[in-house]
Amino acid sequence: MPNLRFIALEQTLHRPVEKVRYPSNKASDYFGSMVFNQTVMREYLTEEAHDSLQKAIKEGVRIERKVTDQIASAMKAWAMGKGVTHYTHWFHPLTGATAEKHDAFINPLEGGRAVEEFMGDALIQQEPDASSFPSGGIRNTFEARGYTAWDPTSPAFILENTLCIPTIFVAYTGESLDYKTPLLKSMKALDDIAVDIVRYFNKNVQKVYPTLGWEQEYFLVDTALFSARPDLVLTGKTVFGHSSAKDQQLSDHYFGTIHSRALAFMQELEIEAHKLGIPLKTRHNEVAPSQFECAPVFEEVNIAVDHNQLLMHLLDKVARNHNFKVLLHEKPYAGVNGSGKHNNWSLATNTGINLLSPGKTAKENFRFITFLVNILKAVHDHEELLRASIASAGNDMRLGANEAPPAIISVFIGEQITRTLHEIEKMPSVRELNNNQKKDVPLNIPKIPEILFDNTDRNRTSPFAFTGNKFEFRAVGSSANTAKPMFVLNTIMADQLIKFKADVEKMTEKGMEQDDAIFSIVKKYIKESRTIRFEGNSYSEEWVKEAEKRGLSNHGSTPEALGAFISKKTIDLFKRNQVMSKKELTSRYEMKLEKYIKKVQIEARVMGDLAINHILPTAILYQNRLIENTRGLKEVIDSKSFVKLAKNQTNSIKFISDHISAIKENVENMIEARKQANKIENAYEKAIAYRDEVMVYFDRIRYHVDKLEFMIDDELWPLPKYRELLFIR
Ligand code: ADP
Ligand code: MG
Repeated sequence: MPNLRFIALEQTLHRPVEKVRYPSNKASDYFGSMVFNQTVMREYLTEEAHDSLQKAIKEGVRIERKVTDQIASAMKAWAMGKGVTHYTHWFHPLTGATAEKHDAFINPLEGGRAVEEFMGDALIQQEPDASSFPSGGIRNTFEARGYTAWDPTSPAFILENTLCIPTIFVAYTGESLDYKTPLLKSMKALDDIAVDIVRYFNKNVQKVYPTLGWEQEYFLVDTALFSARPDLVLTGKTVFGHSSAKDQQLSDHYFGTIHSRALAFMQELEIEAHKLGIPLKTRHNEVAPSQFECAPVFEEVNIAVDHNQLLMHLLDKVARNHNFKVLLHEKPYAGVNGSGKHNNWSLATNTGINLLSPGKTAKENFRFITFLVNILKAVHDHEELLRASIASAGNDMRLGANEAPPAIISVFIGEQITRTLHEIEKMPSVRELNNNQKKDVPLNIPKIPEILFDNTDRNRTSPFAFTGNKFEFRAVGSSANTAKPMFVLNTIMADQLIKFKADVEKMTEKGMEQDDAIFSIVKKYIKESRTIRFEGNSYSEEWVKEAEKRGLSNHGSTPEALGAFISKKTIDLFKRNQVMSKKELTSRYEMKLEKYIKKVQIEARVMGDLAINHILPTAILYQNRLIENTRGLKEVIDSKSFVKLAKNQTNSIKFISDHISAIKENVENMIEARKQANKIENAYEKAIAYRDEVMVYFDRIRYHVDKLEFMIDDELWPLPKYRELLFIR
């Protein structure tokens, strides 16, 4: 039987750098060419249809049925002009991926002819046979089917000759079965209240929306090597692998020159992304070998989330043209950095203000401080929920691993703003300090210098860091659907601003001036949220102890972290803000536990299979060789020297035997532990059993396998090694 590893390695030696064909010299020529965007709408829609679509996008006004027919037919005309034959509702089910079911435009007519058809009904609603999507029990309980409904706020686009229509996915009973629905609801909740708060400062603001700029990290690995690693194929990560003598010690990959094969891949990725209107802007090498990052210009959060989902799809698709596989797993390789997806989040107004940008005037700074402090308070009050929003089996491997933010949520705001908050806290009364100031500069908010922009990004260890004009939520995993952390962040902020408004009104009703009321509440919140702020090294042991003293949660694993989704506090929060019902939260909780269990289960099976089918036979083969060799030695050497000489040999044989027995025993015990865990009915208890009774064998088995990899003749080893996987040839 040929060794697949060597066949794969052989292939990697002959990889060409794929030629990249740009559609035009300028990206601006083809940017958005596959999107039914504002320009196309103006061209293809009647004025009536255009106006009502704009109203739907900007104000959420319902589109009349007859207008949807017009829009559908315009979409069809535009799409057919680009060779499109099919359409699909594109949605994000709870699997975390995206889903689509294609239907042809073509419809048979009498007389053996056919016509292309796409009507309003097909645009606005579809009923995919969705019974196999996870619903966390919602559909089982209610015997209801799911349907998808058009989200006009995210533009339709063309992917591989198919018109894709972004949709929400809901059960007939009204419960959401996706991540987009709560995201859209959270945006509405936030808009409603944030407008009121901004109007304390800027009367003419009509809309506030969250913005998101994600940074996507990923690994590239040659397709041939990938295929020779069943663990990569089935779990997206390596379950075994002795560390490479050199990996990231020299930090020579980070921001280094991009390998020409990887660069060609990125260039094609950018072309495809740009055609779809994804504003990819940066690309660079990351810390680990073969690890990379790309980031777009930020966008309104719903669009940014869709674009990230789409980008993850493109990564996979484009990589194939370059003989690469993209690994989005949070920890594909032990011992080198894992991958995350920083979520840069801010709030913008329809008048072009970034509410997290410190201003030039005292008034602007006052507004900035008001929003900033409300975020601190929101994160302080709901840190556990934020932690839950990024929980997954893959991310557990990364959080707190001295390369990524810990599982403890804290906020970093930088020295300058810390000092500013401190000064504000000490200010006795605003009026006294402002006697001689003009009325439109009512408060003596300490000035925040503009150099701030360059100064805030120093702390790389914080999970939630202020970086000059936005917050960067760094604990998000690389494979995550960013809708999850985003709807949580939006909702806790909306809820906080509602409380803020009520607190301010309580004081103004008593006769206090509005600015004074705002100021005193801000002061109060600064004090109340102090424990969430941490400026030091979040990777340190001291911080773990300190955080515990402060009463911050530290949930190292997904099953325990998820609990925050179904706490009374969370259920009330989402209900109050009309983002999710108890049923929807419970279903997500169940679904995520289920997913966790399955991920661990699959990993355990892959590990067992590989150990028994690949590793042990190889070890025995090598051991037999040593035995043969020893026998041979005995024949040619006198018995006295043999005793001395054979010592090495026999020692090796014994070591191999020991590792073989240990692997066998641990795999058997792991299988038994799995059997026991599978008997447990309760999902939480089952997840805990998988974590505590099954996962404990992972490191043990791996230890022995990696030792064998180190000892056994390189020629016999069946799995591509870390030194081969991690470096692009
Ligand atoms: P770094 O790696 O130093 O954090 P990057 O340039 O890789 O910086 O990423 C910064 C990200 O922050 C980009 O995606 C950018 O679009 C985004 N960003 C900048 N301003 C905002 C904002 N106001 N709201 C949301 N995201 C923002
Ligand atoms: Mg960043």
